Amino acid sequence: MSETIQQRPLRAKGKAKTEREADASVIPKEHQGHGEIPSLGGGAAGDSGLVSPVPQRSGVEVCDAWKDQFADAPDVLKKAPDDHQIVKAGDVAVGDGSFVTMAGPCSVETERQLMETAQRVAAAGARILRGGAFKPRSSPYAFQGLGLEGLKLLAQAREATGLAIVTEVMAAADAPMVAEYADILQIGSRSMENYALLEAAARTGRPILLKRGMVATIADLLRSAQCVVSYGNPNVMLCERGIRTFETATRNTFDVSAIVVLKEIARLPVIADPSHAAGRRRMVPALARSAVAAGADGLIVEVHPDPERAWSDGEQSLTLVDFDTMMADLAPWCDLRAACSYALETVA
Ligand code: PEP
Ligand code: MN
Repeated sequence: MSETIQQRPLRAKGKAKTEREADASVIPKEHQGHGEIPSLGGGAAGDSGLVSPVPQRSGVEVCDAWKDQFADAPDVLKKAPDDHQIVKAGDVAVGDGSFVTMAGPCSVETERQLMETAQRVAAAGARILRGGAFKPRSSPYAFQGLGLEGLKLLAQAREATGLAIVTEVMAAADAPMVAEYADILQIGSRSMENYALLEAAARTGRPILLKRGMVATIADLLRSAQCVVSYGNPNVMLCERGIRTFETATRNTFDVSAIVVLKEIARLPVIADPSHAAGRRRMVPALARSAVAAGADGLIVEVHPDPERAWSDGEQSLTLVDFDTMMADLAPWCDLRAACSYALETVA
């Protein structure tokens, strides 16, 4: 439990005085003798002998505070520094220290669109094909997805390329059907707190890609992950996809800090979605780099052979060439990440 101002004991006079005298020696002469120099960090005592009541916390206390904050998700938190859930989908392992890229169109549109994209992203190093067959759209007039037809096309693309498939499930009743075709079930941002859906998806036994709600805190995300784990499915990946803030220049605000926090406290792999965070394709490679640098275990990126004509999210979809370039540019960053091995590090 964190220390409150009222609980904090007053510090004895002697030692603090000495520190203050030491501080004075580094203050330029012209600034000396003009009354109190405010202390930084609450450490130094004034003439009254009382310390400033700003709490000082060590790193360990901060981690303890996090444990309190995330106490509702006990099975999601690390029990030891090397406590990591490795999530397997097809022959792909996520969270084992390697960096895994999922890529593909926002929506499955046509056989040609999906096959062309799948072949190209596989050749560029992606291991998992994304594509929505059931689409959560803000407008009832927007394309809602091909449904079962889309699932069949995804399975066909897996057959042709060997890529594992991740696709969104939107309704609890659809979970068994989606699980029949997909290797990973995506729970979309808008569904993160749909507990009936979380249960139905969890019970299929397929790994779950759980996207952070756009107004969900890290604790909210972990609580939803805990639900999935509690329903007997430990294979959950946490996805940072940008959150709603006052900023309007980007579609969402990419919360890179969340990646760092999650990597530190959670035993589940962390995936970054720079596409939905940015909303603009030009920003995607830079956000992807920041995700690698922050220690994410992988990316999910929207790619389309002709983004200008995409049926959904074309503005944020990379072209096939953009994707090739991004993957080539990311390679040295991924090597650095592996060399640092901070992806598997934690604070004890
Ligand atoms: C998507 O992945 O296409 C999608 C709709 O994502 P989100 O749920 O993060 O908005
Ligand atoms: Mn999309």
